[in-house]
Amino acid sequence: MKRAVEESLVLKEIPVEGYEKVIVVTDERSGLKAIICIHNSTLGPTLGGIRIYPYPTFEAALTDVKRLARGMTYKSAMAETGLGGAKSVIICNPKNKTKEMLIAFAEAINRLEGLYTGAEDSGCAVADVNLIGHHTPYVVGLSQEKSSGNPSPFTAWGTFRGIQAVLKMLDGSTSIEGKTVAIQGLGSVGSILAELLFWHGAKLIVSDIDWEKTQAIAKKYHATACPSEDILGEQCDILAPCAMGGILNPQTIPQLRCRAVAGCANNQLLNDQDANELKRRGILYAPDFVINAGGLINVSFEIEEAGYNPLASRKKVDQLYDQLIRLFEISEQNNCSTHHAAVSLADYRIKYGVSKRRTPPRYHHYESHRRG
Ligand code: NAD
Repeated sequence: MKRAVEESLVLKEIPVEGYEKVIVVTDERSGLKAIICIHNSTLGPTLGGIRIYPYPTFEAALTDVKRLARGMTYKSAMAETGLGGAKSVIICNPKNKTKEMLIAFAEAINRLEGLYTGAEDSGCAVADVNLIGHHTPYVVGLSQEKSSGNPSPFTAWGTFRGIQAVLKMLDGSTSIEGKTVAIQGLGSVGSILAELLFWHGAKLIVSDIDWEKTQAIAKKYHATACPSEDILGEQCDILAPCAMGGILNPQTIPQLRCRAVAGCANNQLLNDQDANELKRRGILYAPDFVINAGGLINVSFEIEEAGYNPLASRKKVDQLYDQLIRLFEISEQNNCSTHHAAVSLADYRIKYGVSKRRTPPRYHHYESHRRG
């Protein structure tokens, strides 16, 4: 099988300005069509999820993978993981993905010789990552002993700590007791965040496009169930977007009745300028690629020399609190948006190699798998 894959797999690099390497992957035998997008490897080999999605066109897939890869560079630079940013997309309805496609994709990753490491993402389940991990070392987040497992609890904890940082800035105290938090999206991260906030005394307003899920979580945490079309306009202390991107834009920002936005969703701002409008309205925004780095931090521990250690991971995720406080202060001192402050700091770190990786990643899961 390996030989057949090697013969039919084609990797073709296409030039894209501002990106280190963009590779179109095709494999006629399995029907695989994918893009691996390496945005920037200044700080170390790159890491980013493998998204499987039925993009309507190649252009749509390219636009998405570029945006996501760039976001990973910034996220990694801010989280000081010693990794660069990348992302990959497999153009396919997740329902139609096949074992052959995933094996061919693993071989494509192999050909990059460690420049790119993949991970779970939307459409790409842990079972898929496990399969890919049998054919390449360069994947993390598998469900086996040497791996870090599900990143969502770490993302949720980082988001919770971010909410505490926001409250510290707004009210001078990290206390969540009695604060109203509106959560948009009750999936892997949003549901855990709801639980953490509940135990710390928050008043919750919850919302998901799945109304049954909304009602179930509302009942569990004595929260107000809110229809998904109304959640952005709810009066609250903090709006926590935990669903999809682009929700902060010129149409939605005037509707907001919150004092701050702090949630885990990726790419919350439709455009960078939307952050200025939030600032103008006095809404404190926790930059998404900083507050939601918990999952990335967790998987990054998997490839450290010492191997995965949940305590070390928790300690580092905890520090997102200090990161955000520092960013809020920089934004105040420079009278710029918090998003702008975060982008400037990430650019600085990339330019001067701050927290650049000194030791190569170690793929413990693959070593143990090979030993049998
Ligand atoms: P998920 O797919 O498990 O959950 C998303 C939830 O949002 C689903 O329950 C879905 O029904 C709901 N939803 C979709 N559209 C909605 C809408 N318009 N209104 C209300 N609810 C809606 O995803 P997740 O893993 O919980 O991730 C949530 C977000 O956080 C995504 O943007 C993801 O990219 C980002 N993120 C996740 C992690 C992680 O560790 N899982 C890490 C970093 C960033």
